[in-house]
Amino acid sequence: MRYFLFINHPKGEEVFGVSKERENIFKEYIKRVDILETEVVIRDKKYIAKVDYTAFSNLSNFDCFNCQDPCCADNPVIYESNTRNFILDNLQMYNNITKNVDILFEMGHSLEETVKSIEEDKGMVPEQYEEKEISLCTCSFKPNNESVLCSLHSMCLQKGLTSKDIVKIKPTVCSLWPIDIIIDDEDVLYITVPDDFTTGFTIEDYYDTPCVNKELSMSSIFRRKNPNGFLEEDYKPVIISYGETLKQSLGNKFYEDVKTALLEKELVFDYEFKEEETQILKIF
Ligand code: SF4
Ligand code: SF4
Repeated sequence: MRYFLFINHPKGEEVFGVSKERENIFKEYIKRVDILETEVVIRDKKYIAKVDYTAFSNLSNFDCFNCQDPCCADNPVIYESNTRNFILDNLQMYNNITKNVDILFEMGHSLEETVKSIEEDKGMVPEQYEEKEISLCTCSFKPNNESVLCSLHSMCLQKGLTSKDIVKIKPTVCSLWPIDIIIDDEDVLYITVPDDFTTGFTIEDYYDTPCVNKELSMSSIFRRKNPNGFLEEDYKPVIISYGETLKQSLGNKFYEDVKTALLEKELVFDYEFKEEETQILKIF
């Protein structure tokens, strides 16, 4: 079994491999929860998906502008051509936000070498500068001395692109983070959300992830780092706060099937579904 969203990670199997211990915990968990079988489409490829759908009623609050969590600390994938072409088509804007081209000039690289690196290098900068001179994820930027944001997402918003475009340009793992997808040997996807119950096998640590852990964000330890934001009333079910992202990343059928099942179980209610696009199109 593999962590599907990390299969294209630059560090390979050490990141995407699911250990035997985690696989056993995962198998036990899956036997005990309600599963919805549906179909997802990711990067134009269809998969059968078994969804731990009640997890999509868990509360979430993607308050990235007020977050100190280093979730953009390293390059999440070997970048796809969609991402590389978008940067090359908007190089000036990208440099204004990230300073990456200027940094490479200062390190003695010509514009031609910088462009070649964006076209060919795994992390879109020569490897020796990854997470060093070009700190954190290559695509990250700091709008101030506090938060870390995604230049790809910000550039899309500045250009007035749609949520569909954003999801196409950003790595899928980033659009869906911290949703967990495990793929088995038959290419079936198991989809869930990190929480108290899934924590033994999910790749992300629920206890350190404020966007899906309301209790953490209400704690004094968290407030010491994040005095602002993460308001209790801003926590909404994942199917709502991530509704648009889920539709664009996993397909409409996935979204509708999960939504319908949650409505039937009365884990969410119709009146809650009014501001689905606000999260993905939120402007700093
Ligand atoms: S941890 Fe969650 S809220 Fe914080 S920056 Fe990452 S996605 Fe946003
Ligand atoms: S969201 Fe953007 S900045 Fe963050 S890891 Fe992904 S590509 Fe990098």
